[in-house]
Amino acid sequence: MTNAYPNTELHIDGKWQPAADGETIDVINPATGDPIGNVAHARIADLDVALEAAEKGFREWKQVSAFDRYKLMRKAADLVRERADEIGTVMTMEQGKPLGEAKIETLFGADIIDWFAEEARRAYGSVIPARMGGVTQLIVKEPVGPVAAFTPWNFPINQAVRKVSGAVAAGCSIILKGPEETPASCAALARCFVDAGLPDGVVNLVYGIPAEISEYLIPHRTIRKITFTGSTAVGKQLAAMAGEHMKRVTMELGGHSPAIVFEDADVEVALKVLTANKFRNAGQVCVSPTRFLVHEKHYGRFVEGFTEMASTLPVGDGLEPDTKMGPLAHDRRVDAIEGFVSDAVSKGATVHTGGGRKGNKGYFFEPTVLTDVPMDARIMNEEPFGPVAPIMPFTDFDEVVEEANRLDYGLAAYAYTKSAKTVDAIGAAFESGMVSINHHGLGLIETHFGGVKDSGYGSEGGSEAIEAYLNHKLITQTGL
Ligand code: NAD
Repeated sequence: MTNAYPNTELHIDGKWQPAADGETIDVINPATGDPIGNVAHARIADLDVALEAAEKGFREWKQVSAFDRYKLMRKAADLVRERADEIGTVMTMEQGKPLGEAKIETLFGADIIDWFAEEARRAYGSVIPARMGGVTQLIVKEPVGPVAAFTPWNFPINQAVRKVSGAVAAGCSIILKGPEETPASCAALARCFVDAGLPDGVVNLVYGIPAEISEYLIPHRTIRKITFTGSTAVGKQLAAMAGEHMKRVTMELGGHSPAIVFEDADVEVALKVLTANKFRNAGQVCVSPTRFLVHEKHYGRFVEGFTEMASTLPVGDGLEPDTKMGPLAHDRRVDAIEGFVSDAVSKGATVHTGGGRKGNKGYFFEPTVLTDVPMDARIMNEEPFGPVAPIMPFTDFDEVVEEANRLDYGLAAYAYTKSAKTVDAIGAAFESGMVSINHHGLGLIETHFGGVKDSGYGSEGGSEAIEAYLNHKLITQTGL
């Protein structure tokens, strides 16, 4: 049986529609390298209509009570659950990840909508005690206004649903520029909101040339809030543009997460959890463990165990039931990962397994383990975003903390130890927005999600996430 892949239209002002000039972009199945469909390519004329719709949608949606927003969002979440099999299949076809991962991502998306729906009802303000009798000082929270959101291809649902749900829960409208590489699953998410009964203009979805769209939307006076997930380099450009136009910003950017295995760790547990998370989504995860820093006592066993796991990992088309790792999402990633590995090898690194492309079609790359990687190798300094694990030994706590914090990234950090003292010490020492010790516990919507340093600012999880879409207003009043 061949699965049908849907072409993707723009969604503007409540209508699914082609681009005004009919232009489209091809969508490629990364498991084969073949085109499977296309996505409408918005130009400025389409963006102008989307901006007008977002303005109108905002005026209407902000009047809707939090309770009614909640009810509609719960309906959208249920539609996502009902359609999870179909959406997951489409996601695997366009993104490459194993079908099981795609379905879980979709179902988690429904939980995220539910979470924000509940948060809408709890966007409390406050009453501040006044200095004078008869004065009432209120802090009320109001939606910030129309949002421009930019989301990438690695988690087509997860990255988009946090932004769309936060905006919709707060009473904002949104123009989402979805990922051109993986448009259909992101559009299927938007469709659940639309089919749940969202008024026209509240959620608008466009695709096109990312720079053309961001350069037009960010300065536009209709847009009051920018939210971006992607690379640090692009994030810095967009944040600078937003700063110039005094727009509020959330930036979820790259990472280079250290994963430390201390002398007293259970090395088998560390191996099991870290290997599974290194190769999840072929390493194209912003919180992926990246630099493996292993106490010299466990170093030999860790390299051996990691190599064994990587060399036997079933790699293939994500639609095949046995596949544990799919292809990279697009051809640029294959070139990038090849570049990281050849740079490391040319500087003296040892390849224990993998190291190259796999097969002669699609964008597969072998799960790769490197040791003896010099500190000036690019992979020790730039986010690799792929299935490559550099492993290095260490001997003492201060030395490993210095290495863990050496880079300008600060998104996620991991540690394995049986000592309560080391748990406390390493939790405090990591310069990172998120720390997970003795397990992999990041990304649940109940908890903070965001980075520090060059990994960005703001949070897309926990009770603080909705705040990104709310303004505070002081109203101080007296009786007449
Ligand atoms: P890229 O830097 O060209 O694009 C990254 C993302 O940013 C894409 O979704 C793209 O559409 C968007 N983008 C690029 N330029 C933009 C602009 N001027 N305005 C608005 N959006 C823009 O590279 P890529 O090959 O797609 O991905 C490579 C790097 O991106 C990875 O190495 C990784 O560091 C980063 N990335 C991070 C995440 C994340 O979850 N934080 C997700 C995807 C990619």
